[in-house]
Amino acid sequence: MTAESVRQALYEVSDPEIPTISIVDLGIVTKIETSDTETHVTLTPTFAGCPALRIMERLVENKLKEKGFPNPKATTSFDVQWNTGMISEEGLQALKKHGLAPPPPTTGNDYAELLKHMPCPYCDSKNTELKSPFGPTLCRSIHYCNDCHQSFEAFKPVK
Ligand SMILES: [Zn+2]
Repeated sequence: MTAESVRQALYEVSDPEIPTISIVDLGIVTKIETSDTETHVTLTPTFAGCPALRIMERLVENKLKEKGFPNPKATTSFDVQWNTGMISEEGLQALKKHGLAPPPPTTGNDYAELLKHMPCPYCDSKNTELKSPFGPTLCRSIHYCNDCHQSFEAFKPVK
């Protein structure tokens, strides 16, 4: 069993809140350790306020068990701090498919300004406005597009 095969298996585990994105593409798998008897996956939390961590650990363990990896164990560590820049290109597309605006790069941008003009996932317009900084979960904000007149949620950028 190699770390790469574990990684491949984890592509089948998706974020419980965003079923279109795998946890690998989300960038939260920070370490994979394997031996003949143990399989250990380390996850980093996306948002401290998101309650999905324990669920995510269970999903990872169940998936690896199902695939026959020895003694799978998933733990969450705060050692590596996740930021939205760790989402892969596929992951960003997956967010968009889900109707979620992918988070723009956080470097050098004013967070409040970003939220005011989040690109619309439906028509790519930046003529949008922030309706609420808090969506159904703490990770998301709610926006409205003035061009295609759809409201949409955005994955909040995190530094
Ligand atoms: Zn639009």
